[in-house]
Amino acid sequence: MYNPHSLTATEFIDDQEIQDTLAYAQANKDNLELVNQIIDKTEELKGLSHREAAVLLLCEDRAAQKRIFAQAAKIKQQFYGNRIVMFAPLYLSNYCVNGCTYCPFHFKNKHIPRKKLTQEEIRREVIALQDMGHKRLALETGEDPVNCPIEYVLESIQTIYSIQHKNGAIRRVNVNIAATTVENYRKLKEAGIGTYILFQETYHKEQYERLHPTGPKHDYAYHTEAMDRAMQGGIDDVGIGVLFGLNLYQYDFVGLLMHAEHLEAVHGVGPHTISVPRIRNADDIDASSFTNGISDELFQKIVAILRITVPYTGIIVSTRESQKSREMVLKYGVSQISGGSRTSVGGYAEEEPEEEDSSQFELSDQRSLEEIVNWLLKSGYIPSFCTACYREGRTGDRFMSLVKSGQIANCCHPNALMTLKEYAEDYAGPETKRLALELIAKEVESIPNEKVKAIAKENLHSLDDGRRDFRF
Ligand code: SAM
Ligand code: SF4
Repeated sequence: MYNPHSLTATEFIDDQEIQDTLAYAQANKDNLELVNQIIDKTEELKGLSHREAAVLLLCEDRAAQKRIFAQAAKIKQQFYGNRIVMFAPLYLSNYCVNGCTYCPFHFKNKHIPRKKLTQEEIRREVIALQDMGHKRLALETGEDPVNCPIEYVLESIQTIYSIQHKNGAIRRVNVNIAATTVENYRKLKEAGIGTYILFQETYHKEQYERLHPTGPKHDYAYHTEAMDRAMQGGIDDVGIGVLFGLNLYQYDFVGLLMHAEHLEAVHGVGPHTISVPRIRNADDIDASSFTNGISDELFQKIVAILRITVPYTGIIVSTRESQKSREMVLKYGVSQISGGSRTSVGGYAEEEPEEEDSSQFELSDQRSLEEIVNWLLKSGYIPSFCTACYREGRTGDRFMSLVKSGQIANCCHPNALMTLKEYAEDYAGPETKRLALELIAKEVESIPNEKVKAIAKENLHSLDDGRRDFRF
């Protein structure tokens, strides 16, 4: 029986409820009166239910789709303005005991070089990332209790936070590691992580079990209930996602939203972020052998509907997506992107030789961080290196109330400008710096609260004198 309040995976992700939702959406997708009513409802900024969102997903009416995109762009602008938060992944280890059929780190792959960074190598990687201008990382590892135990991850987090090279600092470490115990989540929380990220891959239980034939990840319930354990362990910013291409997208779209509703129902706060990765070619993985791939058009539609369905949740796209694809989704909902990424274990400080390639998947967007910052500035966005909320204790529902109160314009906006100025002063080439400073000068005037505006201006001046790390 479907029960969003239950802590049992098959009850809060009830297969029958997903089937019924899709049947309801199929029956109503041409009911334009209902479709328009649902779109109108998003004006209230309270989001939509998974059933309502599913109707929009299946609706193919051109005029309705146009309205969905327009509404997504409007809500995006209202909540996130033109800010885009920047981050980079850091792969610590690709040892893995699981048998995921879509990932080259699966344990049967004898061909891929296995690597695990030492603390000294982490130091070098982090210095290279700091020298690019990054302030926020997402740590990635395979699952291997012997080669990559939680103690190693905790020690690595400590190393990363301790490195201060020139004006650089990693101020927020998000973590994307395998499902684990409440006790380990508590340790991650104590280590000062930002968001705990775990992709469900697919919400369809049988398909999930087929795609994960061996290893601890085979256990659907343990994986699906991981976010509840993370929250029990005190982590209140969690990031969910599915890997599009593994299963029917309609099913996973509904599952994703039911997961978000479940977290809200049980813990009083939904996911902090949703990621929308699409499967990519990799070492021994041929993405085209997965027959559920989604087109660029569909991908954009999914992002737009997510934006209006969960207006308070950040949406992340990685460098799995090309520049062109990113351009479209930035407009309709994405709020965080990675830049200058490597998916190999090591590779920031020194390029890996080709024969030693340890990467997880091929990148579509291979531009450097500066090229991406430059492109964002030219496209009218504000690249933001802000990490203030979690450092100011604005996590979980406290973050959500900030967003809901509309105070974001007095908080995130000036923080974005101050951190962009840090980037411009410390890392940008002359053209990017000029573009950034011009944008900052213009944008600072649009901070609504006069007092905040005055402080922001003062801080921006102080950055010229070498001071760093201002935040609201
Ligand atoms: N090992 C942990 C896990 O599986 O949850 C976390 C890190 S894993 C390196 C990060 C994510 O990469 C996985 O959750 C999966 O969705 C994604 N991934 C794996 N193989 C991929 C591929 N071929 N293309 C795109 N993404 C992939
Ligand atoms: Fe291992 Fe994660 Fe890759 Fe699966 S997706 S093989 S668990 S690294």
